[in-house]
Amino acid sequence: MMGMSDCLFCNIMSGKIPGTIVHEDDGVVAFEDVNPQTPVHILIVPRRHIRSLNDLEEVDAGLIGRVHLVAKKIAREKGIAGSGYRLVCNCGPDAGQAVGHIHFHLIGGRPMSWPPG
Ligand code: 5GP
Ligand code: ZN
Repeated sequence: MMGMSDCLFCNIMSGKIPGTIVHEDDGVVAFEDVNPQTPVHILIVPRRHIRSLNDLEEVDAGLIGRVHLVAKKIAREKGIAGSGYRLVCNCGPDAGQAVGHIHFHLIGGRPMSWPPG
């Protein structure tokens, strides 16, 4: 079973695997997506190894609030607060979740279509 030691995002957050980190605090880490879909594409990742949105617990409420405040801060720093952006959390197969550690995509820097494909 996949655990923390073989988790890609746990290993990026611990520095074992390189990543371009743009924000770090005691609850979350944010780094550049290696395969950006938009001019700005940052992954905001809670440090705690939570597999997906389905695995969130009541105790995580503050952590998920923090994710949104970090998204707001990074959007301003990257210059997309006014032009607009999305914060997306893919959960499960239909959403295309590829990494089994909950993460939030901050995407923006160009107009995006809706609904998603
Ligand atoms: P998901 O499809 O699970 O919502 O998103 C996973 C994201 O992780 C994808 O956007 C993918 O480009 C990104 N990703 C995959 N491997 C790596 C990596 O080694 N480093 C970084 N920085 N991002 C990665
Ligand atoms: Zn993990």
